[in-house]
Amino acid sequence: MSSAEVVSSENLDGQQQSSSTLVMPAAENKVNLLGMSRPELEKFFEDIGEKKFRAGQVMKWIHQYFITDFAEMTNISGKLRAKLEQICEVKAPEVVHRHYSKDGTRKWVFRVGDGAGSLVETVLIPAEDKTGLRKTLCISSQVGCALDCSFCSTGKQGFQRDLTPDEIIGQLWMANYSYMEEVPVAERERSVTNVVMMGMGEPLLNYDAVLSSMRIMLDDFAYGMSKRRVTLSTSGVVPKIDQLAKDIDVALAISLHAPNDELRNELVPINKKYPLAQLIAACQRYIAKDGNESTRKHVTIEYVMLEGVNDHPDHAQQMIKLLKNLPSKINLIPFNPFPHAPYGRSSRNRIISFQKTLSDAGFVCTIRQTRGDDIDAACGQLVGQVADRTRRAEQWQKKVTQRQEILRTQG
Ligand code: SF4
Repeated sequence: MSSAEVVSSENLDGQQQSSSTLVMPAAENKVNLLGMSRPELEKFFEDIGEKKFRAGQVMKWIHQYFITDFAEMTNISGKLRAKLEQICEVKAPEVVHRHYSKDGTRKWVFRVGDGAGSLVETVLIPAEDKTGLRKTLCISSQVGCALDCSFCSTGKQGFQRDLTPDEIIGQLWMANYSYMEEVPVAERERSVTNVVMMGMGEPLLNYDAVLSSMRIMLDDFAYGMSKRRVTLSTSGVVPKIDQLAKDIDVALAISLHAPNDELRNELVPINKKYPLAQLIAACQRYIAKDGNESTRKHVTIEYVMLEGVNDHPDHAQQMIKLLKNLPSKINLIPFNPFPHAPYGRSSRNRIISFQKTLSDAGFVCTIRQTRGDDIDAACGQLVGQVADRTRRAEQWQKKVTQRQEILRTQG
């Protein structure tokens, strides 16, 4: 039962009474409105005996004007404001670390949950393009991650728990708020232009919360983001890609990182469950979904460049074969090494030659600019330094030693 809901009651004769009783949550157990989508908020207002249009009003205050104090929501009656004060709250996750890089990159570490809680991180990367200044926010969906990709700092920390919708949307809320803390309410406007669900965790393994959060991102009463500017990035949870195609229209990115099953099994272990043929077919179905002229013209392919591992010219040729029937844009990502990482970053020349091979074959292929090196902007890197709570660290160290041994024997 939600903390505030209307329940019917029976009289002494066992007959249903026509009136209903409002069960108010205890003051210390307030309902957090931050992560509620519009339908959920409408239901909430109806349940507390109010008109559902209040949902749109409150959403605007929260997500467009960044107001958390109900007393400041001036188009709502004083009576309702007092009621909301009593039973609800608007609460973003607590920021325990923030760092703004010289190149404009911003990074936050949030504490989620009660007590000591757990840590997740969010990175905002600005970049100029032909449409102007883009500010892309990379959002986390889980605390840690169970998928254990061998090049990933988050995977090293193991899985702790899923984030709730308010913890996910709270990252976007806080990033926008960081640009307008000093700005008068009437002049506030949003700063984040793009969102990628590509931070800590596998978003498709926390499906409902991620879906609900993306609906808030697209909602005109909240962030009103274009569906082309919201991207979900997955390592390849195939059944959920099909589900996503039915539920929402957003851009899709695939963390591919290897052009054949043997190598991908090592780098992205979920590949053993959903091998490349299945993954590529799911991407083709996603694009083929009818009625989506712009968002689903292509899939973005992410490929982290690991020195001597996946950056050989043969790998580029294998990519061409693998992707020949999938409309795709390829993004080569220079690896951002972290302490004890078993891999190194491919050389600039190697990356450029890999890009040229793919471009010559007709693919749109870009190289991601490395940003925020001075603030450890690689996914999971900062949290990895702050907290390393599981036995995964020991297993990781073993892997590092093994890989170093292999590289040594290969000369
Ligand atoms: S790359 Fe993504 S899916 Fe793989 S372990 Fe890291 S967070 Fe999880």
